Amino acid sequence: MTDLQGRKDELAANLARVEERISAACAAAGREREDVTLIVVTKTYPASDVRILSGLGVRHVAENRDQDAAPKAAECADLPLTWHFVGQLQTNKVRSVVGYADLVQSVDRAKLVTALSKEAVRAERELGCLIQVALDADVSVGDGRGERGGVGPGGVEELAARVAEAPGLRLDGLMTVAPLTGDYAGRQQAAFERLMDLSTALRAAHPAANMVSAGMSSDLEQAVAAGATHVRVGTAVLGVRPRLG
Ligand SMILES: *Cc1c(COP(=O)(O)O)cnc(C)c1O
Repeated sequence: MTDLQGRKDELAANLARVEERISAACAAAGREREDVTLIVVTKTYPASDVRILSGLGVRHVAENRDQDAAPKAAECADLPLTWHFVGQLQTNKVRSVVGYADLVQSVDRAKLVTALSKEAVRAERELGCLIQVALDADVSVGDGRGERGGVGPGGVEELAARVAEAPGLRLDGLMTVAPLTGDYAGRQQAAFERLMDLSTALRAAHPAANMVSAGMSSDLEQAVAAGATHVRVGTAVLGVRPRLG
C-alpha cells in the first residue's frame, strides 16, 4: 500500500466518523442533515490532503494563514472547492486572500471591510463575508475586540451594515469561536445559542445573511444543537496539527 493510499484511507475513515457525528447531532436536534454544511479546516496540512478530501466529496475547505493558504489554493485551483478564510486577517494580506477565498469568515473591523471591498472590486469578484463575533469581548466596551479576533456583540449591527453597503462584498452571516475566557468559557452551547440570537437580529435587517458558522472538532454537536448552518472541523478529519498554526 502506498503512503498516498494510506493517507486516503485515514482521511476517509475520519471523514466518515465526523459525518456520523453531524448526522447524529442533526437527528437529535430534529434538523435535516442537509441544513448543516461541513467545512474542513485544512490549515497546516498539505495540498495533497486537500486533493484527497476533494476526491472524497468535500466541497468546502478553510484556512487561517495566508502564507500557508495562498500556495495551497493555487495548487488546488482545478478542484471544485469553496475556500473559506477563517483567520485573523491583516489588511496587507487582503489582496492575496481575495485572490482565492470565496468567503472571509473573520470580518471584525471597519478598516478590514474597506480593504476587502477595494480588492474585491479590483479583482472583479463578489466576496462572501461573515462577521466574526467575539463572545469574550469586554461588554462594557460594546464593540470591543475578542482575544482571538472578532467584534463584540454590540458592534455587529454597524459592521454588518458596512459590509452590506460595500461594493464587491456580500453579507452572508455570522461566525464565532467558542470563547476560552469570560462568561461563556466552557459553555459552548450557551455561546452558540447567543450567536443564534444575534443571527436572528441580523436577519431581521438582512434576510439573506443566514449563515451561522460555529462549532469545531470538540464542540460541533453543541453548534448543531444551537442551530449552526456551518461547522468548521480540522483535527477530527486531518489529525492533531503540528505545533504551529
Ligand atoms: C483551526 C480552526 C478550526 C478547526 O479547529 P479543530 O479544533 O481543529 O476542529 C475552526 N475554526 C477556526 C477559526 C480555526 O482556526
